[in-house]
Amino acid sequence: MRYIDTHAHYNDNAFDLNRDEIINSCFNSNIDFIVNVGADKKSSIESIELSNKYDKIYNVIGVHPHDVLNSTAQDIYDIYENYDVRKTRGIGEIGLDYAFVKDNKDLQKNLFIEQIKLANTLKLPIIIHSRDAYKDTYDIVKENIAEYGVLFHCFHPTDELVRLVLDRNYMVAFGGNITYKRSKSFYELVKKIPAENIMIETDSPYLPPEPYRGTTNSSLNLPIILKKLAEIKQIDEEELSKIVYDNSVKFFKLK
Ligand SMILES: [Zn+2]
Ligand SMILES: [Zn+2]
Repeated sequence: MRYIDTHAHYNDNAFDLNRDEIINSCFNSNIDFIVNVGADKKSSIESIELSNKYDKIYNVIGVHPHDVLNSTAQDIYDIYENYDVRKTRGIGEIGLDYAFVKDNKDLQKNLFIEQIKLANTLKLPIIIHSRDAYKDTYDIVKENIAEYGVLFHCFHPTDELVRLVLDRNYMVAFGGNITYKRSKSFYELVKKIPAENIMIETDSPYLPPEPYRGTTNSSLNLPIILKKLAEIKQIDEEELSKIVYDNSVKFFKLK
């Protein structure tokens, strides 16, 4: 089986000692493509640089809600105008995160909306990070249509999310957290999301799956995530791997 990591942060400091070694070991194993995702001005530039160094890495650029004070939508537009963005495939990760910061909700919402508009201007899909903020996130995506596609990467499944996926053909990416015990509560919702709307990701170096929690995550853990997903959805693993692979190639225009 072949795999695509639709969300990773190989520019992260966690990989400073062995970045090339880990990336090469992924490509020498069963990983075909990696989408490296930015979270602010600096990491977006680093994502572009990584994708220009490695044939099989693509990039997504944007400002994460945690970085609302250090980068702007204009920064991302300027990067797009001034760097080699032939391998830029989306605006992300963008969205709302009320888990740690609750006093800047309006700033986060404005930045999210500005970046949806930017994605439409640049004809790119958006990659959404939504944590402890699902109602506001859904309200914004319903009012501000992302015209070139939507992928929910960090999210808590709800009935409304399932409706959005079914009604608008939005995509969702599952990561290591589906292997965590507390995630059992959303298995029923995962079953309702068609395989055609699913991708997989690691969010490396974060969120390693069981039994590797506490270690540095890498794309090499994708098979564990796919296996768990196949188990939850009661679909043959090989069949599911092909579907999520094709979904990822199509969404991110990989080749
Ligand atoms: Zn995220
Ligand atoms: Zn991420």
